[in-house]
Amino acid sequence: MKNKILLKLLEENHIKCTGCGACANSCSKRILSMEMDQEGFYYPDIQDESLCIECGKCLSVCPIDNFQGNKSSKQYGFIEKPETCSVKSSSGGVFYRIAAKFLECGGWVCGSIYDDENKVVTICSNKESDVKKMCGSKYAVSNIEGIYEEIKKHLNNKELVLYCSVPCQIAGLVHFLNREYQNLYLIDLFCYGTPSAKLFMSYLSWKENVSRQGVCKKIKDYEFRDKSYGWEKLVRKITYEDGTEEIEEHLNHDPYFCSFIAKKTLRESCYECTFCREERYGDISIGDFWGVEKLGVLTEEKQSGCGISAILVNTDKGEAFIDILQKEGEIFETTLDDIKRDNLSLVKPPARHHYRDKIYKSMNKAGFEKTAKKYMYLDSGWRHRILKWVPLGVKRYIYDKVNK
Ligand SMILES: Cc1cc2nc3c(=O)[nH]c(=O)nc-3n(C[C@H](O)[C@H](O)[C@H](O)COP(=O)(O)OP(=O)(O)OC[C@H]3O[C@@H](n4cnc5c(N)ncnc54)[C@H](O)[C@@H]3O)c2cc1C
Repeated sequence: MKNKILLKLLEENHIKCTGCGACANSCSKRILSMEMDQEGFYYPDIQDESLCIECGKCLSVCPIDNFQGNKSSKQYGFIEKPETCSVKSSSGGVFYRIAAKFLECGGWVCGSIYDDENKVVTICSNKESDVKKMCGSKYAVSNIEGIYEEIKKHLNNKELVLYCSVPCQIAGLVHFLNREYQNLYLIDLFCYGTPSAKLFMSYLSWKENVSRQGVCKKIKDYEFRDKSYGWEKLVRKITYEDGTEEIEEHLNHDPYFCSFIAKKTLRESCYECTFCREERYGDISIGDFWGVEKLGVLTEEKQSGCGISAILVNTDKGEAFIDILQKEGEIFETTLDDIKRDNLSLVKPPARHHYRDKIYKSMNKAGFEKTAKKYMYLDSGWRHRILKWVPLGVKRYIYDKVNK
């Protein structure tokens, strides 16, 4: 029988649980752990309930129940200089420009990379080669095992630390630390959610084996957003170990990416995300500046093919980032309304897709390929086949009504 604290943590909070791990990392008896569920998402778990002393630490650090973000005081757009433009970054390269300064000052940078098996994992490093690997969005949940402890160790050694991640993982760290550190700097990303690590890995292994009569082609490098064709175009690039490349411009040909864009495969909590709001945990928040062309601030020269970032400055520390960026590219003031207009995911969780559960159930039962064909492509399912015949104007009208 679960005690009241475990009942709330493991069952009542389950739907909203983001898997940030603040609870397991803070457990005074070290009896909570983060375990992968059937869909491939991490949740807190306990082996032996009788060891729980009901101290309540796990609940007191849960960001869901104790939200405490800051509203931004200033908002900016950032355009990279064409000569230093980084095509590996997904947006305007804000993260890399700031991270490079931390390395120069002898600091540590923590962020997500692909490990040797292409799993998305978070590391802390003071090497430029690792920070370059952190560049670029990986649209799958990043494993943060051991990271909060490692960051705490650096902070207590009086070392400078920069951590950039999705809002729920940033909030998890803040609650785990449970005190202010002047040497900690945080960047949270605009985010509408993440698919599971398991789904991503089964997709990659399908990609490595698909249509090659049993000959496996190992993936060396995976980029969700290859900006060589322009930032606004979502172009996915895979480089295989034999040197061949596969570039996908029409994302409906890629079941993982198009089901992610259609919000079919997100973690349950993403559909009710506590962190999709104006109040943020990062010193700054960054994302793509979708819709920037409507503001009339871009000359042809400025829109050089490099990305354009939107930035919210949420704390005094965040102001210092703006000073760094001023020297690294062009920065202009804007408003929250201008940023939100074409980036609703900043403040509104995505709508839950009716295929979501079907995809995860089917992945375990029928495997990736069958699941993809049935549910993951843009034109999978009868609704899409009907919608194909509805005039665009009517679809737009319905979309505007639903998203108002
Ligand atoms: C899952 C996810 C969803 C997103 N959704 C939106 C959105 O709806 N709208 C929008 O405008 N922007 C979104 N973004 C942010 C956007 O894609 C860029 O990451 C952001 O604008 C920063 O761009 P950059 O060029 O400065 O840095 P980049 O070089 O593109 O970003 C690098 C930083 O992103 C971090 N990162 C990459 N993948 C992950 C991951 N899986 N988990 C945690 N951290 C990660 C790295 O640690 C690194 O610090 C999302 C990002 C992610 C990871």
